[in-house]
Amino acid sequence: VAKDAGRNRYSYFTPALQRAALNRMRLSNDLRDALAAEGLQVVYQPIVDLRRGHICKAEALVRWHHAERGPVPPAEFIPIAESSGLILEIGEWVFRQAVQDVLRWRTELDEHFQISVNKSPVQFHSEAGMHTRWLRQIVEAGLPGDAVSLEITEGLLLEGGDNASQQLMALRRAGLSVALDDFGTGYSSLSYLQRYEIDCLKIDRVFVHELEPGSKALALCRAIITMAHELGMTVIAEGVETARQRDLLASIGCDLGQGFFFARPMPAAALEELLRQQGGPRPA
Ligand code: C2E
Ligand code: MG
Ligand code: MG
Ligand code: MG
Repeated sequence: VAKDAGRNRYSYFTPALQRAALNRMRLSNDLRDALAAEGLQVVYQPIVDLRRGHICKAEALVRWHHAERGPVPPAEFIPIAESSGLILEIGEWVFRQAVQDVLRWRTELDEHFQISVNKSPVQFHSEAGMHTRWLRQIVEAGLPGDAVSLEITEGLLLEGGDNASQQLMALRRAGLSVALDDFGTGYSSLSYLQRYEIDCLKIDRVFVHELEPGSKALALCRAIITMAHELGMTVIAEGVETARQRDLLASIGCDLGQGFFFARPMPAAALEELLRQQGGPRPA
């Protein structure tokens, strides 16, 4: 029909668009099945204290190994999960895993260890009291709030309104920390930092990638770190891939680093092994 009806009338419904829509629909259905069949995995990427050199936290990152397509990157399926609403269940599932794992690690390996979990804006918008579920899980696990850090994006602050801001305040009152992910990309309006209570900035890896002595990136990172410290926030550099980047970041006072130079995201058991080798936190 589309063909006979002529190009103008149906030009928006091109085969390429149709394929893309179909692909999203299939992925969305497969993702739902994967979640039900325990086909998702949580991996953890170490976050390293740059001053003392030990792993002090880890970021939980979801993985999906599709039966036919192989691994599908979160950058591809998270947006699909957000638009279908499935992100709510996925998010709860990831959070539950992370809480169980950090409880074990704190009990057995390092009583100060922290877990960092990404939260989609959709998770804050779905109901006014979403955060009380998260708090309940932490309390029921017998964990203090400061065992958990939540990574949010500017998108939440941009459109979040009072509801998001109240949830964030309640979470912080319970001791959780809030990290602003991918800082420096997007709009990065500094007014967010005035309006919302943020504990930590994660410098996006595009800046870290360009770090060289005398580079603009270095000046920007230094300025971000100075500003953050003035405001009582800590800084994590994302995407640290070389010793040189690590050294430059340490030289400008960056608190924490995360990236392939230290370790790739790994299954819980592998992180546990690393923590065992490390033998507890280093003295200050
Ligand atoms: P993000 O939160 O900024 O996570 C960091 C991403 O950078 C991860 O990609 C990680 O594997 C990657 N990365 C870490 N170190 C390096 C490095 O040295 N070089 C490079 N090139 N990349 C590095 P990943 O796991 O593919 O996740 C992509 C994004 O998907 C995350 O970005 C986050 O926004 C989202 N995401 C992942 N898991 C979850 C989740 O459980 N819930 C939600 N809402 N979003 C998630
Ligand atoms: Mg993150
Ligand atoms: Mg990030
Ligand atoms: Mg990022």
